[in-house]
Amino acid sequence: KQLRVAIMGLGGYANIVAEAMQKCTMATLVGVVSGTPSKVDTWKKKYNIPDKNTYNYETVSEIKNNPDIDIVYVTTPNSLHHKHVLQIAATGKHVICEKPVADNAKQTREMIAACEKAGVKFYIGYRLHFEPHTRELIRMRESGELGKIMHVNNYMGFKSGDPTQWRLKKALAGGGAMMDVGVYALNGARYCTGEEPIWVTAQETKTDPIKFKEVDETITFQLGFPSGVIANCGTTYNFNNFERLYVIGEKGFVELSPAFGYGPIKGRTNAGPMNMPAHIPHQTLQMDGLADIILNNKPDPHITGHEGLKDMIVVDAVYESIRKGGQKIFINKA
Ligand code: NAD
Repeated sequence: KQLRVAIMGLGGYANIVAEAMQKCTMATLVGVVSGTPSKVDTWKKKYNIPDKNTYNYETVSEIKNNPDIDIVYVTTPNSLHHKHVLQIAATGKHVICEKPVADNAKQTREMIAACEKAGVKFYIGYRLHFEPHTRELIRMRESGELGKIMHVNNYMGFKSGDPTQWRLKKALAGGGAMMDVGVYALNGARYCTGEEPIWVTAQETKTDPIKFKEVDETITFQLGFPSGVIANCGTTYNFNNFERLYVIGEKGFVELSPAFGYGPIKGRTNAGPMNMPAHIPHQTLQMDGLADIILNNKPDPHITGHEGLKDMIVVDAVYESIRKGGQKIFINKA
C-alpha cells in the first residue's frame, strides 16, 4: 500500500516535491489542486494524473468524496496556509503544510484544532527531520555523545531576487526572512538543544527600506533555554553565504554547513568529517518517511502541527521583541 498524495499550489516548491516523489517507494503523487488550468494540464501529462483527481480552489471541498487521495500537501504562499489547511481538514483528508506553518501562533492553534476536530493528521514540511546529517546530530545529542550542550549558533538566509515576488508582500508572506528561512535557524536551535526556549530577544537591520518596505530584511535573534544555553541565530533576505548550524557541547560539537538548504548537507564533528550515506533529495526521504509513519502508525519525528506551533510562538516573540526595541520577551512559562 502507498500513501496517495495530492499537491495544492503548483509553484516552485511543488515542482521540487513532485520530482523528488518520483523516487519514492511508499508515497505516490496522484492529484493536484491549482487555479491555473494550463498547469493542471502539464502536471496531468507529466505525472499521469487522472482527471478525477484534479481540483481548483473552488472545487477543493469535493476532495472529501474522492477515496483515491489520502493526504493533501499545501504548498501555497505562507499567508494562505491557514485557510487552505482548514479547507483540507474539512474534507477529512490528512494534511501536510509547508513552513512557515502560518502567519502566527494564533492561526496555528486554529489549524491544529480544526485537524483534531476532523480527526486528520497534520504535518509540517520539515524535511530536515528526515535528512541523515540532521538525524545524526539529534542522535548524538540525545545519546549524550556531545555532553551537556553549551552553545548554539545557527544562521540561514539568502539574497532574494525579484522585488515584485509575493515573499516581499506582507499580505501573502506574513513577514520576511524570519518567516521564510529564519524558521530553519530557530527549528534547528530546538533540535540542537532538545529544549523549548523561555525567552527571546531580537534585533532588525534594514539596509534596503525600499525593497523591504513591507517585510523584514535581516534579523538576529537569541533564544534562552531552561538549561541556561543561549542560541545565537540570524536570518536575512539580503546577502548570500549565510547558512550554518553549529552546536557545541562539553564533549563535542557538530557543524553543518550548508545546513538547511536542499543539500547535499555537509558536516563535521570533533571526530572529523561526517560520513553519511550518498545524498538523496530530502523530499524523497520526507515523503517516504511520512508514508511509513502514517501507513504503519509510527511515532512522528517532530514534524507535527504542534511542532509548527512551537516555532510560531518563537516567531511571534521575535517580532514582538523587535517592536519593543529588543526587549526580552518571556515565552513558554511553566
Ligand atoms: P511559488 O510562488 O513558486 O508557488 C506558490 C504557488 O501558490 C503558485 O503556484 C501560485 O500560483 C499559488 N497560489 C495560489 N493562490 C495564490 C495567491 N492568492 N497568490 C499567489 N500565489 C498563489 O512559491 P514556493 O517557493 O513554491 O513557496 C510555496 C510555499 O512553500 C511557501 O510557504 C514556502 O515557504 C514553502 N517552501 C518550502 C521549502 C522547503 O524547503 N520546505 C522550499 C521552498 C518553499
